[in-house]
Amino acid sequence: MTSDAIVIADAGDGRLLDANNQALSMLHLDAEGLLGLNILDLHPESEHEAVRQVFMGDQNSLVSEFLECRILPLRGLAIPCELSAQRITQDGRVLAIGIYRDISDRIRALEDINLRNVAIASFSSGVTIADARQQDLPLIYVNRGFEELTGFKAKEAVGRSCRFLQADDRDQEQLEVLRRALKKGESCVVRLRNYRKDGSLFHNELHMSPVRNEQGELTHFVGIQIDVTDRVRNRELLASSERRYRLLADSVEDLITRRKQSGELEFASSTTEDLLGIPAKQWIGNNFYDWVHPEDRESLQAISIRAFAGESVAAIRFRIRHKDGHYIWLESRDSLSEPLETGGAPLLVSVSRDVTLQRKAEEDIRTALEKEKELNEIKTRFISMVSHEFRTPMTSIQASTALLRDFSAGLSKEKIASHYRNIDTALKRMAQMLNDVLFVSRSESAKVPCNPRSIHLVEYCQELIETLKIIEPQAEIIFRYTIPEGGYYLLDPSLLNHIFQNLLGNALKYSRRGDKVEWDVSTSGPDLEFVITDHGIGIPQEDQAGLFEAFYRARNVGTIRGTGLGLNIAYRSAGLMGGSMEFRSEEGKGTVFTVRLPAKAANSTRQ
Ligand code: ADP
Repeated sequence: MTSDAIVIADAGDGRLLDANNQALSMLHLDAEGLLGLNILDLHPESEHEAVRQVFMGDQNSLVSEFLECRILPLRGLAIPCELSAQRITQDGRVLAIGIYRDISDRIRALEDINLRNVAIASFSSGVTIADARQQDLPLIYVNRGFEELTGFKAKEAVGRSCRFLQADDRDQEQLEVLRRALKKGESCVVRLRNYRKDGSLFHNELHMSPVRNEQGELTHFVGIQIDVTDRVRNRELLASSERRYRLLADSVEDLITRRKQSGELEFASSTTEDLLGIPAKQWIGNNFYDWVHPEDRESLQAISIRAFAGESVAAIRFRIRHKDGHYIWLESRDSLSEPLETGGAPLLVSVSRDVTLQRKAEEDIRTALEKEKELNEIKTRFISMVSHEFRTPMTSIQASTALLRDFSAGLSKEKIASHYRNIDTALKRMAQMLNDVLFVSRSESAKVPCNPRSIHLVEYCQELIETLKIIEPQAEIIFRYTIPEGGYYLLDPSLLNHIFQNLLGNALKYSRRGDKVEWDVSTSGPDLEFVITDHGIGIPQEDQAGLFEAFYRARNVGTIRGTGLGLNIAYRSAGLMGGSMEFRSEEGKGTVFTVRLPAKAANSTRQ
């Protein structure tokens, strides 16, 4: 505890004579320093008169009350003090004893209270203080905020119980909560319907807190009144608009959703259950994008970002997952909704329609159109093939028959035979072409059977090479194999012919005379692998994709004759035997065709 500072001065001239330690330390002086000073030196000039009165004035007129003054220490700020003084006579000398009490703390506390009072008074919300020790809790203070909020002036409110704000509207649930809290001396927050002086309603959010004294007795209640009328109205509006919204949303077949920017679903119409097999209530709270097909997610999110930025966006189609895992196509239109409650983030409203059937129909139409286009192309290619490839043998037949008819008498036997051979070859060629066309059309309608038989593969290959050599004696085909010499396999010989006659024939046809063609036969896993390599004209990159189509010919064939059917037939034949066919080629360098057929070993007995 701090003791008072005491100084002794000459009551005649005010010279300082002595001081206690407290005074010395307050003044930052030592005993010697003190002796040269006058009591007035310890005070600001404005206080000199009053201090003189206390120390040197007329004994009778001595102020009996405390004098509030300030002490000036040697260093630092003035110290507010409360001064009282006494006179004593010592050795015939009249001395004045001044007792200074440091009141800095008290002053600071007062300032604090002042500050708080000003703050409370200027607080825009209503602040009230009620006396808890009196019955009915009369108000003892209301601030300006309260006056503005209620229209009641302080003098009209003070002394009355706060109850008058309810007017006749006494039947309020929240009042019960308030009463209970007041009774128990607890704090509470309630929302009340209160009425201004002019009778108008406002929604009052009342924060009530009890105040207790040092003994813990309840002395006051401090209430803060906040006008939440707008908030309540907005909420009511929101609720009624939400009700209307839900009614509307539930009565249309479209799926209506509302989501946050994060994707979190905040609303979903009851269509959710029909469409996705999940009740709307269960779906709300999910992240909408988690249900979107991974391939469509990015584009949908990009559109949503633009919609959230306030742009108007076009309808978008995407797939959404049904509860059982399959996907449904939706067409969605998004628009931004401003929330009614201020402060809420904007939401995206999507109106989505199930377009799965529509999409399927569109896809069917597209496929049909493509098919038709393809057929048209085939037709065009067919007509151009027929007009080229049929004309040559027909011209040759016409020429030979005309000669035989008109000039047979003048022709040698050999010449006549040669014309008949011509006619025969031309007819065979035409028959071959017709057979090929027939094969393609029959295989298209799945009418070509696959009849596997036990085949000695090495022998089969060698015989085929021999047959080709009869047609083209200069042909050089290098045949290599790593399959067992005596291996029998179950294969359809007619389909095998279709494949290898065409592939080897092409390899020879599209190479320079004398260029070697290689034929490698091996096993690869469960398959037989046939690789035919040539070093001929190759196939231009841009023609490679369409090469297996019927009547398709690459642009670099020049005058080499052909129908564009052979590869199609070979490809289909490989497929009919459960195999596959592919190729690599570089224009001007050559081509490698690889055929894989299932290697089903058989015994030697021909089946
Ligand atoms: P074509 O009767 O025209 O030879 P194909 O169906 O057998 O018909 O082949 C289709 C087209 O593929 C050929 O016209 C040719 O352009 C190309 N082609 C096929 N095999 C080869 C090959 N070994 N080298 C170069 N081009 C080839």
